Amino acid sequence: MKKFQILTLLIGFLVLLSCKNTENDNQKSEISDNSISKEVESPAETIETFGIVIHGGAGTIRKKNMSDSLEAAYKSKLEEAIKAGHDILKNGGDAMDAVTASINIMEDSPLFNAGKGAVFTHEGQNELDASVMDGKTLNAGAVAGVTQIKNPINLAVEVMDNSDHVMLSGKGAQIFAESRGIELVEPDYFYTERRYRSLQRAIKKEKVTLDHDEKVSFVDPFIQDSKFGTVGCVALDKNGNLAAGTSTGGMTNKRWNRIGDSPIIGAGTYANNTTCAVSSTGWGEYFIRGMVAHDISAMMEYKGVSVEEATEEVIQKKLTELGGTGGVIAIDAKGNPSMEFNTKGMYRAHMDADGNLYIGIYGDE
Ligand code: ASP
Repeated sequence: MKKFQILTLLIGFLVLLSCKNTENDNQKSEISDNSISKEVESPAETIETFGIVIHGGAGTIRKKNMSDSLEAAYKSKLEEAIKAGHDILKNGGDAMDAVTASINIMEDSPLFNAGKGAVFTHEGQNELDASVMDGKTLNAGAVAGVTQIKNPINLAVEVMDNSDHVMLSGKGAQIFAESRGIELVEPDYFYTERRYRSLQRAIKKEKVTLDHDEKVSFVDPFIQDSKFGTVGCVALDKNGNLAAGTSTGGMTNKRWNRIGDSPIIGAGTYANNTTCAVSSTGWGEYFIRGMVAHDISAMMEYKGVSVEEATEEVIQKKLTELGGTGGVIAIDAKGNPSMEFNTKGMYRAHMDADGNLYIGIYGDE
């Protein structure tokens, strides 16, 4: 009898134990189910909005100095570029693909100081810089001082995706480009009459400065009527990811392998899904010293201000007080755009998820 009681107790204990285990298993599967549904329901997956902003450089751009036909040419190229990126976003494509598609169109146009329309160095060469940043992963890629890359922004993406590095320069960058099948061109592809004349004017002016002041002013943007024209793009895609890119020929009459802000992550380009994506244009030395693109993101992150407030503070106060000129485009994680500059004008465009298009050139538009 005792034996039977012990056996019953043992069986009862085992039954209880197995129930407990089943409960635990159920809890476990609930947890894992939760984590799956959490992933699906995360804002990054369900965000419906998207948007894109581009710039084609900032500077002394005045209506009185612009012919109607040139103004129309700029506007139509800006529209073509932003629509190419917008189409990609509308169809659910990646922010980074939209950024490169828009920038490629501006790089291939002689209107802008990037790719085909790049400005000349003092020696009459073209040295191009570009960078990209992915706001989701904080991955970045950049190239500086390349002379034969048709679309430097594509090489910057290649550096980000297929090298262990963030920035490559000069000959090494070209060797890497060749190994990755990136399109190369002969250096004279970048020759444009307009930019070459700008160089001649800058050199002439520099001589005058030399004669009178006995000093070399190698980059004075105020004597460079066509120094502006760097291109950039920032985008938010339907998955809630931000991306930024910037491409440039730098500044007319630059020498000593000068490199500006455009390929410097944090100065010319920055993107972070928790804050915003930024692309800069202007007098690069000041943008490097001010770490302008990252500063805007940091203000949003640490002070909790809007993208509009952050860009205004950084451009109108901090950059201006430093003595710098130029502007930025930015877009935040909800698709709010900003186009801020302290120059007379900035070639710029914005398109939202509903397809509303804004294009501006001068300050008061
Ligand atoms: N930021 C560019 C540079 O300094 C020039 C520009 O944006 O116009 O190289």
